[in-house]
Amino acid sequence: MSWLLPRVVMAVLSVLLGTAIGIWLERWLKTPFIAEVFSAASAVASLMLVDSIRAHRLMQWLRGSQLDTAPRDSGWWGELAYRVERAVRDREKTIARERTQLDQFLSAIEASPNGVMMLDELDQIHWCNRVAADHFSLDPQRDLRQRVTNLVRSPAFVAFLQAGQFGKPLILNNVRGLGTLSVVVRRYGEGMTLVLSQDITERERADAMRRDFVANVSHEIRTPLTVLGGFIETMSSLPLTEAEQRRVLILMGQQTQRMQSLVSDLLTLAQLEGSPRPAPDRWVALDTLLLRLNSDALALSAGRHQIHIQMDTQIELAGVESELLSAAANLVTNAVRYTPDGGVVDVHWRLLSDGSGELSVNDTGPGISREHLPRLTERFYRVDGSRSRETGGTGLGLSIVKHVLQRHGGELHIESEPGKGSKFQLVFPAVRIRRLGETPLGVESAMSSPLEH
Ligand code: ADP
Repeated sequence: MSWLLPRVVMAVLSVLLGTAIGIWLERWLKTPFIAEVFSAASAVASLMLVDSIRAHRLMQWLRGSQLDTAPRDSGWWGELAYRVERAVRDREKTIARERTQLDQFLSAIEASPNGVMMLDELDQIHWCNRVAADHFSLDPQRDLRQRVTNLVRSPAFVAFLQAGQFGKPLILNNVRGLGTLSVVVRRYGEGMTLVLSQDITERERADAMRRDFVANVSHEIRTPLTVLGGFIETMSSLPLTEAEQRRVLILMGQQTQRMQSLVSDLLTLAQLEGSPRPAPDRWVALDTLLLRLNSDALALSAGRHQIHIQMDTQIELAGVESELLSAAANLVTNAVRYTPDGGVVDVHWRLLSDGSGELSVNDTGPGISREHLPRLTERFYRVDGSRSRETGGTGLGLSIVKHVLQRHGGELHIESEPGKGSKFQLVFPAVRIRRLGETPLGVESAMSSPLEH
């Protein structure tokens, strides 16, 4: 009741003012009745005037932006202004809090790796994040309030949206001429539509690769099995001479060997994919590997080629010995297998100026034309299928090499030209190379001053 006292004071002041006016009028007009009426009217009028001024000030403040404080009057106008101001400030705080929450919510959707688009009841874009704009080639600002069906140039998407059957996701191929999108649509609120899009290009590619891989493996295994089946039937149904039997058994042995190599290469690949990256501090002597390569190459070539393998590198490589041997052996075996008799196979080690090192396997074989080079490390990719199979190839050798190199932080470089032989280089990073018993070359060069280089 803090407003009551000022109000009573004001009323008393008004009455006093009215009485003073009445006394003055009575002296002047000599008519007590009119003087009394005027005195009462003056009292009420002065009260109303004060009220009007204060009401006007409060109204002015309410009509404005309400950034300054409300009029600080005494009495109930002051109380009223204070309460209204508090209500206004509370409402402003609530709006600010809700706006912050909305902003955070929208930034979370904006950060989503998936596209999110909201459409109103006329399929006009109400809001969309940048990913959705990218997926559907839209402009998140300019295209707001535009009908999405007029902007997205995919007839399948437009038909899907218009059909209203959203049970299954829509798969859009060749969106923006590149990948594949999965689009899920849901209705929400009053006639609103939520469009969620996800780029599934990589997933589709991985699925296709897996399907191809299974088909290739099945094909590779079925062929020798069919041959073996045929031989078994021949042996059991035909009376073969001893020489014929020996020949058939040799051929059966070759097919069995082929399947064994395939299974072994498949296991190697699976192992490479499933095991952790090789530790950078387990050192393998390169000369020991080269010694093994030399004996394997000599055995495989059986004197048909000139084989030069450098064996005094004094270098150690950080990694897994069996993997490094398998990568290098695959290259040397290929060189021997694909190089005609009398050709040269040369293996040597070289340190490069940036501290990395390369093991190079060169041959004077048939060479490979340029268009095949990028695909050589694909699983089961062969330039000459029959030559590969004849010589016991599985089509997996170079993908194993690439995998091993990637796991060791290295790279496989291939240079080849038809008729000019081939050069396969295993390039290892400086941190995985050291001279026997010394610190890795990468660490050495990092510690030495830049002026020394
Ligand atoms: P494969 O088991 O068939 O040899 P790889 O993955 O080792 O499988 O090699 C893939 C293909 O690359 C081979 O089929 C062959 O056509 C070609 N190739 C590999 N190494 C050589 C080489 N040294 N000379 C010529 N062609 C090669």
